[in-house]
Amino acid sequence: MSGGADPGGANAALTRRWRGALMDNFGTPRLPLVQGRGTWVRDAEGREYLDFVGGIAVNALGHAHPAVVRAVGEQIASLGHVSNLFIAEPTVRLAERLLRLAGREGRVYFSNSGAEANEAAFKIGRLTGRPHLVAATGGFHGRTMGALALTGQEAKRRPFRPLPGDVTHVPYGDADALRAAVGTRTALAVLEPVQGENGVIVPPPGYLRAAREITAASGTLLVLDEIQTGVGRTGRWFAAEAEGVEADVVTLAKGLGGGLPIGATLAFGAAAALLTPGTHGSTFGGNPVVCAAALAVLDTIEEAGLLEAVTRAGERLRRGLRLPAHPLVREIRGAGLLLGVVLGDEVAARVQRAAQDRGLLVNAVAPDVIRLAPPLTVTDGEVDVFVDGLRAALSDVLEETPTAA
Ligand code: PLP
Repeated sequence: MSGGADPGGANAALTRRWRGALMDNFGTPRLPLVQGRGTWVRDAEGREYLDFVGGIAVNALGHAHPAVVRAVGEQIASLGHVSNLFIAEPTVRLAERLLRLAGREGRVYFSNSGAEANEAAFKIGRLTGRPHLVAATGGFHGRTMGALALTGQEAKRRPFRPLPGDVTHVPYGDADALRAAVGTRTALAVLEPVQGENGVIVPPPGYLRAAREITAASGTLLVLDEIQTGVGRTGRWFAAEAEGVEADVVTLAKGLGGGLPIGATLAFGAAAALLTPGTHGSTFGGNPVVCAAALAVLDTIEEAGLLEAVTRAGERLRRGLRLPAHPLVREIRGAGLLLGVVLGDEVAARVQRAAQDRGLLVNAVAPDVIRLAPPLTVTDGEVDVFVDGLRAALSDVLEETPTAA
Protein backbone atom coordinates (compact mmCIF):
# COMPACT_ATOMS: atom_id res chain seq x y z
CA MET A 1 0.00 0.00 0.00
CA SER A 2 1.31 3.48 -0.80
CA GLY A 3 2.50 5.78 2.00
CA GLY A 4 -0.32 7.60 3.75
CA ALA A 5 -3.16 6.47 1.47
CA ASP A 6 -5.40 4.40 3.77
CA PRO A 7 -8.46 6.65 4.37
CA GLY A 8 -9.27 4.84 7.61
CA GLY A 9 -5.71 4.82 8.93
CA ALA A 10 -3.75 6.94 11.39
CA ASN A 11 -2.10 8.96 8.61
CA ALA A 12 -5.48 9.99 7.21
CA ALA A 13 -6.85 10.76 10.68
CA LEU A 14 -3.97 13.13 11.51
CA THR A 15 -4.24 14.70 8.08
CA ARG A 16 -7.95 15.39 8.68
CA ARG A 17 -7.14 17.05 12.02
CA TRP A 18 -4.43 19.14 10.32
CA ARG A 19 -6.95 20.33 7.74
CA GLY A 20 -9.45 21.28 10.41
CA ALA A 21 -7.05 23.29 12.55
CA LEU A 22 -4.29 24.77 10.39
CA MET A 23 -4.44 27.52 7.78
CA ASP A 24 -4.26 26.37 4.21
CA ASN A 25 -1.22 28.39 3.15
CA PHE A 26 0.87 25.27 2.51
CA GLY A 27 -1.91 23.14 1.05
CA THR A 28 -2.24 19.83 2.88
CA PRO A 29 1.16 18.25 3.64
CA ARG A 30 1.56 14.83 2.12
CA LEU A 31 2.28 12.72 5.18
CA PRO A 32 2.23 12.88 8.97
CA LEU A 33 5.57 11.92 10.54
CA VAL A 34 5.81 10.88 14.17
CA GLN A 35 9.42 9.84 14.73
CA GLY A 36 12.88 10.19 13.23
CA ARG A 37 16.36 8.81 13.78
CA GLY A 38 19.36 9.67 11.63
CA THR A 39 18.27 9.60 7.98
CA TRP A 40 15.09 7.66 8.73
CA VAL A 41 11.58 8.81 9.66
CA ARG A 42 8.41 6.91 10.53
CA ASP A 43 4.83 7.86 9.66
CA ALA A 44 1.77 7.62 11.91
CA GLU A 45 1.12 4.07 10.70
CA GLY A 46 4.64 2.81 11.47
CA ARG A 47 5.98 2.88 7.93
CA GLU A 48 9.62 3.92 7.57
CA TYR A 49 11.14 6.23 4.96
CA LEU A 50 14.63 7.23 4.00
CA ASP A 51 14.47 11.00 4.37
CA PHE A 52 16.27 12.92 1.62
CA VAL A 53 14.15 16.05 2.19
CA GLY A 54 15.74 16.67 5.58
CA GLY A 55 13.13 19.22 6.67
CA ILE A 56 14.04 21.18 3.49
CA ALA A 57 17.82 21.10 3.88
CA VAL A 58 17.57 21.72 7.63
CA ASN A 59 18.46 18.50 9.41
CA ALA A 60 22.23 18.69 8.97
CA LEU A 61 22.81 15.89 11.48
CA GLY A 62 19.62 13.99 10.70
CA HIS A 63 16.93 13.30 13.26
CA ALA A 64 17.54 12.98 17.00
CA HIS A 65 21.32 13.31 16.79
CA PRO A 66 22.69 12.63 20.28
CA ALA A 67 24.91 15.73 20.26
CA VAL A 68 21.92 18.01 19.56
CA VAL A 69 19.68 16.16 22.02
CA ARG A 70 22.32 16.46 24.75
CA ALA A 71 23.07 20.13 24.07
CA VAL A 72 19.39 21.11 24.07
CA GLY A 73 18.63 19.06 27.18
CA GLU A 74 21.52 20.47 29.17
CA GLN A 75 20.87 24.05 28.12
CA ILE A 76 17.10 24.06 28.71
CA ALA A 77 17.74 22.49 32.11
CA SER A 78 20.09 25.28 33.13
CA LEU A 79 19.02 28.49 31.33
CA GLY A 80 16.29 28.39 28.71
CA HIS A 81 15.69 31.98 27.71
CA VAL A 82 16.92 35.39 28.79
CA SER A 83 15.79 37.79 26.01
CA ASN A 84 18.05 40.42 24.53
CA LEU A 85 18.04 42.33 27.82
CA PHE A 86 20.63 39.89 29.19
CA ILE A 87 23.66 37.98 27.96
CA ALA A 88 23.75 34.20 27.65
CA GLU A 89 27.14 32.61 27.07
CA PRO A 90 26.12 30.14 24.29
CA THR A 91 24.94 33.10 22.19
CA VAL A 92 28.32 34.79 22.46
CA ARG A 93 30.15 31.52 21.83
CA LEU A 94 28.11 30.82 18.69
CA ALA A 95 28.72 34.30 17.29
CA GLU A 96 32.46 33.97 17.97
CA ARG A 97 32.45 30.54 16.39
CA LEU A 98 30.69 31.68 13.21
CA LEU A 99 33.10 34.57 12.80
CA ARG A 100 36.02 32.18 13.27
CA LEU A 101 34.59 29.91 10.57
CA ALA A 102 34.26 32.93 8.27
CA GLY A 103 37.88 33.77 9.10
CA ARG A 104 37.19 37.48 9.39
CA GLU A 105 36.38 40.11 11.96
CA GLY A 106 32.75 41.07 12.02
CA ARG A 107 29.56 40.91 14.04
CA VAL A 108 26.53 38.67 14.14
CA TYR A 109 22.80 39.32 14.54
CA PHE A 110 20.71 36.30 15.55
CA SER A 111 17.07 35.75 14.61
CA ASN A 112 14.75 32.77 14.21
CA SER A 113 14.50 31.98 10.51
CA GLY A 114 16.02 32.53 7.13
CA ALA A 115 13.56 35.24 6.20
CA GLU A 116 14.46 37.17 9.33
CA ALA A 117 18.17 36.79 8.64
CA ASN A 118 17.52 38.44 5.27
CA GLU A 119 15.26 41.10 6.82
CA ALA A 120 18.23 42.12 8.95
CA ALA A 121 20.40 42.26 5.82
CA PHE A 122 17.72 44.42 4.13
CA LYS A 123 17.72 46.82 7.10
CA ILE A 124 21.53 46.97 7.07
CA GLY A 125 21.17 47.95 3.41
CA ARG A 126 18.70 50.73 4.27
CA LEU A 127 21.11 52.09 6.87
CA THR A 128 23.72 52.72 4.20
CA GLY A 129 21.44 55.58 3.13
CA ARG A 130 21.17 54.22 -0.41
CA PRO A 131 17.65 53.46 -1.67
CA HIS A 132 18.17 50.80 -4.35
CA LEU A 133 18.58 47.02 -4.05
CA VAL A 134 19.43 44.31 -6.54
CA ALA A 135 18.48 40.65 -6.40
CA ALA A 136 18.20 37.77 -8.86
CA THR A 137 15.24 36.49 -10.82
CA GLY A 138 14.16 33.11 -9.49
CA GLY A 139 15.96 33.73 -6.19
CA PHE A 140 14.26 32.87 -2.92
CA HIS A 141 14.96 34.83 0.24
CA GLY A 142 11.86 34.20 2.39
CA ARG A 143 8.23 35.20 2.82
CA THR A 144 8.24 38.19 5.18
CA MET A 145 7.62 41.44 3.33
CA GLY A 146 11.24 42.59 3.08
CA ALA A 147 12.57 39.14 2.19
CA LEU A 148 9.70 38.74 -0.27
CA ALA A 149 10.65 42.03 -1.92
CA LEU A 150 14.08 40.49 -2.59
CA THR A 151 12.62 37.15 -3.70
CA GLY A 152 12.58 36.92 -7.48
CA GLN A 153 9.55 34.66 -7.93
CA GLU A 154 6.58 36.60 -9.24
CA ALA A 155 3.83 34.19 -8.17
CA LYS A 156 4.88 34.51 -4.53
CA ARG A 157 5.15 38.31 -4.74
CA ARG A 158 2.02 39.20 -6.70
CA PRO A 159 -0.65 38.86 -3.98
CA PHE A 160 1.31 41.03 -1.55
CA ARG A 161 2.09 44.14 -3.52
CA PRO A 162 3.03 46.81 -2.76
CA LEU A 163 6.31 45.39 -1.48
CA PRO A 164 9.13 47.43 0.02
CA GLY A 165 11.18 48.81 -2.88
CA ASP A 166 13.12 49.80 -4.84
CA VAL A 167 14.38 46.36 -5.94
CA THR A 168 15.70 45.46 -9.39
CA HIS A 169 15.77 41.76 -10.29
CA VAL A 170 18.41 40.63 -12.76
CA PRO A 171 18.83 37.25 -14.50
CA TYR A 172 20.77 34.88 -12.23
CA GLY A 173 24.24 33.96 -13.43
CA ASP A 174 24.51 36.93 -15.81
CA ALA A 175 27.38 39.12 -14.60
CA ASP A 176 26.76 41.74 -17.30
CA ALA A 177 23.15 42.19 -16.20
CA LEU A 178 24.35 42.58 -12.62
CA ARG A 179 26.93 45.15 -13.69
CA ALA A 180 24.26 47.12 -15.55
CA ALA A 181 21.91 47.16 -12.53
CA VAL A 182 24.34 47.98 -9.72
CA GLY A 183 25.40 51.59 -9.21
CA THR A 184 26.27 54.12 -6.57
CA ARG A 185 22.58 54.34 -5.50
CA THR A 186 22.57 50.58 -4.81
CA ALA A 187 22.74 49.67 -1.14
CA LEU A 188 23.13 45.94 -1.64
CA ALA A 189 23.01 43.10 -4.10
CA VAL A 190 21.79 39.80 -2.68
CA LEU A 191 22.52 36.43 -4.31
CA GLU A 192 22.40 32.75 -3.45
CA PRO A 193 25.59 30.81 -4.29
CA VAL A 194 23.23 28.11 -5.64
CA GLN A 195 19.53 28.88 -6.12
CA GLY A 196 18.00 26.12 -4.02
CA GLU A 197 14.26 26.78 -4.15
CA ASN A 198 14.41 27.70 -7.81
CA GLY A 199 15.42 24.13 -8.72
CA VAL A 200 19.06 23.88 -7.55
CA ILE A 201 20.48 26.26 -10.16
CA VAL A 202 24.26 26.57 -10.21
CA PRO A 203 25.64 29.82 -11.68
CA PRO A 204 28.50 29.79 -14.20
CA PRO A 205 32.00 29.62 -12.71
CA GLY A 206 33.30 33.05 -11.77
CA TYR A 207 29.82 34.59 -11.24
CA LEU A 208 30.21 35.19 -7.52
CA ARG A 209 33.71 36.58 -8.05
CA ALA A 210 32.33 38.94 -10.67
CA ALA A 211 29.54 39.94 -8.28
CA ARG A 212 32.18 40.75 -5.66
CA GLU A 213 34.11 42.97 -8.09
CA ILE A 214 30.98 44.70 -9.41
CA THR A 215 29.61 45.52 -5.96
CA ALA A 216 33.00 46.60 -4.59
CA ALA A 217 33.43 49.04 -7.48
CA SER A 218 30.32 51.02 -6.51
CA GLY A 219 30.58 50.62 -2.72
CA THR A 220 27.53 48.33 -2.78
CA LEU A 221 27.22 45.64 -0.12
CA LEU A 222 27.39 42.09 -1.44
CA VAL A 223 24.96 39.94 0.55
CA LEU A 224 25.29 36.20 0.08
CA ASP A 225 22.23 34.25 1.16
CA GLU A 226 23.81 30.99 2.36
CA ILE A 227 20.65 29.94 4.17
CA GLN A 228 20.37 26.77 2.12
CA THR A 229 23.99 26.37 1.00
CA GLY A 230 25.82 27.18 4.24
CA VAL A 231 26.88 25.11 7.26
CA GLY A 232 28.51 22.32 5.27
CA ARG A 233 25.69 21.54 2.85
CA THR A 234 27.97 21.89 -0.22
CA GLY A 235 31.04 20.35 1.46
CA ARG A 236 32.33 23.70 2.70
CA TRP A 237 31.30 25.82 5.65
CA PHE A 238 30.14 28.48 3.18
CA ALA A 239 29.48 27.64 -0.47
CA ALA A 240 31.10 30.90 -1.64
CA GLU A 241 34.46 29.61 -0.39
CA ALA A 242 34.59 27.64 -3.65
CA GLU A 243 35.23 30.93 -5.46
CA GLY A 244 37.20 32.54 -2.62
CA VAL A 245 34.54 35.25 -2.34
CA GLU A 246 34.17 37.28 0.84
CA ALA A 247 30.80 39.01 1.08
CA ASP A 248 29.97 42.01 3.24
CA VAL A 249 26.96 40.20 4.70
CA VAL A 250 26.25 36.46 4.88
CA THR A 251 22.92 35.05 6.00
CA LEU A 252 22.51 31.59 7.52
CA ALA A 253 19.59 29.57 8.91
CA LYS A 254 18.28 26.07 8.04
CA GLY A 255 21.12 23.61 8.85
CA LEU A 256 22.66 25.81 11.52
CA GLY A 257 20.17 24.90 14.26
CA GLY A 258 20.13 21.15 13.59
CA GLY A 259 16.32 21.28 13.53
CA LEU A 260 15.79 24.21 15.90
CA PRO A 261 14.76 27.59 14.48
CA ILE A 262 17.62 30.02 14.03
CA GLY A 263 18.73 32.74 11.63
CA ALA A 264 22.09 34.46 11.63
CA THR A 265 23.20 37.59 9.79
CA LEU A 266 26.97 37.91 9.69
CA ALA A 267 28.32 41.30 8.70
CA PHE A 268 31.91 42.32 8.07
CA GLY A 269 33.78 45.61 7.75
CA ALA A 270 31.68 48.78 7.77
CA ALA A 271 28.47 46.74 7.34
CA ALA A 272 29.00 45.25 10.81
CA ALA A 273 28.53 48.65 12.46
CA LEU A 274 25.30 49.79 10.78
CA LEU A 275 22.80 48.25 13.19
CA THR A 276 22.95 50.46 16.27
CA PRO A 277 20.94 50.29 19.53
CA GLY A 278 17.21 50.34 18.88
CA THR A 279 17.37 49.74 15.12
CA HIS A 280 16.43 46.06 15.11
CA GLY A 281 15.63 43.18 17.41
CA SER A 282 13.84 39.94 18.20
CA THR A 283 12.69 38.50 21.53
CA PHE A 284 13.87 34.98 20.75
CA GLY A 285 16.90 35.82 18.62
CA GLY A 286 20.06 34.34 20.16
CA ASN A 287 18.06 32.10 22.46
CA PRO A 288 20.63 30.02 24.40
CA VAL A 289 18.93 26.65 23.78
CA VAL A 290 18.91 27.20 20.02
CA CYS A 291 22.49 28.50 20.12
CA ALA A 292 23.59 25.44 22.12
CA ALA A 293 22.02 23.23 19.43
CA ALA A 294 23.86 25.19 16.72
CA LEU A 295 27.17 24.83 18.56
CA ALA A 296 26.56 21.07 18.75
CA VAL A 297 25.96 21.03 14.99
CA LEU A 298 29.18 22.92 14.26
CA ASP A 299 31.22 20.79 16.71
CA THR A 300 29.91 17.58 15.17
CA ILE A 301 30.56 18.70 11.59
CA GLU A 302 34.13 19.50 12.59
CA GLU A 303 34.84 16.49 14.83
CA ALA A 304 33.27 13.92 12.51
CA GLY A 305 34.94 15.33 9.38
CA LEU A 306 31.53 15.89 7.77
CA LEU A 307 32.69 18.42 5.18
CA GLU A 308 34.78 15.75 3.46
CA ALA A 309 32.00 13.21 4.02
CA VAL A 310 29.49 15.50 2.26
CA THR A 311 31.71 15.78 -0.80
CA ARG A 312 32.18 11.99 -0.93
CA ALA A 313 28.48 11.20 -0.38
CA GLY A 314 27.44 13.80 -2.96
CA GLU A 315 29.73 12.23 -5.55
CA ARG A 316 28.44 8.73 -4.72
CA LEU A 317 24.86 9.94 -5.09
CA ARG A 318 25.56 11.64 -8.42
CA ARG A 319 27.41 8.61 -9.76
CA GLY A 320 24.66 6.22 -8.68
CA LEU A 321 21.93 8.28 -10.34
CA ARG A 322 23.94 8.94 -13.48
CA LEU A 323 25.39 5.48 -14.20
CA PRO A 324 23.96 3.63 -15.92
CA ALA A 325 22.04 6.47 -17.56
CA HIS A 326 18.32 6.42 -16.73
CA PRO A 327 16.10 7.54 -19.62
CA LEU A 328 14.17 9.94 -17.39
CA VAL A 329 17.24 11.67 -15.90
CA ARG A 330 18.58 14.54 -17.96
CA GLU A 331 21.14 15.96 -15.56
CA ILE A 332 22.24 15.99 -11.94
CA ARG A 333 23.27 19.45 -10.77
CA GLY A 334 24.19 21.13 -7.52
CA ALA A 335 27.03 20.84 -5.04
CA GLY A 336 27.80 18.48 -2.17
CA LEU A 337 24.53 17.25 -0.71
CA LEU A 338 22.33 19.86 -2.34
CA LEU A 339 21.47 18.17 -5.61
CA GLY A 340 18.80 18.59 -8.26
CA VAL A 341 17.84 15.61 -10.38
CA VAL A 342 16.67 17.23 -13.61
CA LEU A 343 14.08 15.11 -15.41
CA GLY A 344 13.34 14.83 -19.11
CA ASP A 345 9.73 15.94 -18.54
CA GLU A 346 7.61 17.82 -16.00
CA VAL A 347 6.88 14.73 -13.89
CA ALA A 348 8.69 15.64 -10.66
CA ALA A 349 5.47 15.48 -8.57
CA ARG A 350 4.80 11.96 -9.85
CA VAL A 351 8.38 10.87 -9.15
CA GLN A 352 8.02 12.30 -5.64
CA ARG A 353 4.88 10.18 -5.12
CA ALA A 354 6.41 7.05 -6.64
CA ALA A 355 9.48 7.48 -4.43
CA GLN A 356 7.29 7.83 -1.35
CA ASP A 357 5.48 4.63 -2.29
CA ARG A 358 8.91 2.99 -2.31
CA GLY A 359 9.84 4.41 1.10
CA LEU A 360 11.90 7.44 0.02
CA LEU A 361 11.14 11.08 0.79
CA VAL A 362 12.24 13.57 -1.86
CA ASN A 363 11.08 17.04 -2.86
CA ALA A 364 9.72 18.06 -6.25
CA VAL A 365 11.21 21.55 -6.09
CA ALA A 366 10.30 22.41 -9.71
CA PRO A 367 8.00 20.71 -12.24
CA ASP A 368 11.01 18.89 -13.71
CA VAL A 369 13.42 18.82 -10.76
CA ILE A 370 13.70 16.59 -7.70
CA ARG A 371 15.77 18.14 -4.91
CA LEU A 372 17.91 15.94 -2.67
CA ALA A 373 19.13 17.33 0.66
CA PRO A 374 19.84 14.40 2.98
CA PRO A 375 21.60 14.87 6.33
CA LEU A 376 25.35 15.51 6.14
CA THR A 377 25.67 12.31 8.16
CA VAL A 378 24.11 10.09 5.45
CA THR A 379 26.00 6.78 5.12
CA ASP A 380 27.22 5.05 1.96
CA GLY A 381 24.74 2.26 2.63
CA GLU A 382 21.86 4.74 2.82
CA VAL A 383 22.98 6.44 -0.39
CA ASP A 384 23.01 3.05 -2.13
CA VAL A 385 19.53 2.11 -0.86
CA PHE A 386 18.28 5.53 -1.96
CA VAL A 387 19.83 5.29 -5.43
CA ASP A 388 18.26 1.86 -6.06
CA GLY A 389 14.88 3.08 -4.78
CA LEU A 390 14.86 6.33 -6.75
CA ARG A 391 15.90 4.60 -9.96
CA ALA A 392 13.02 2.15 -9.43
CA ALA A 393 10.61 5.05 -8.78
CA LEU A 394 11.77 6.79 -11.96
CA SER A 395 11.09 3.58 -13.86
CA ASP A 396 7.62 3.35 -12.27
CA VAL A 397 6.80 6.80 -13.68
CA LEU A 398 8.32 5.95 -17.03
CA GLU A 399 6.20 2.81 -17.28
CA GLU A 400 3.04 4.88 -16.66
CA THR A 401 4.03 7.39 -19.38
CA PRO A 402 6.69 6.05 -21.73
CA THR A 403 6.72 9.40 -23.59
CA ALA A 404 8.08 11.18 -20.49
CA ALA A 405 11.69 10.43 -21.41
N1 PLP B 1 16.84 32.01 1.73
C1 PLP B 1 17.01 30.83 1.12
C2 PLP B 1 18.15 30.66 0.15
C3 PLP B 1 16.14 29.77 1.38
O1 PLP B 1 16.32 28.60 0.74
C4 PLP B 1 15.09 29.96 2.30
C5 PLP B 1 14.13 28.88 2.57
O2 PLP B 1 13.96 27.96 1.82
C6 PLP B 1 14.95 31.20 2.92
C7 PLP B 1 15.85 32.21 2.61
C8 PLP B 1 13.85 31.46 3.90
O3 PLP B 1 14.10 30.77 5.08
P1 PLP B 1 12.91 30.54 6.13
O4 PLP B 1 11.94 29.64 5.49
O5 PLP B 1 13.60 29.93 7.32
O6 PLP B 1 12.36 31.87 6.44
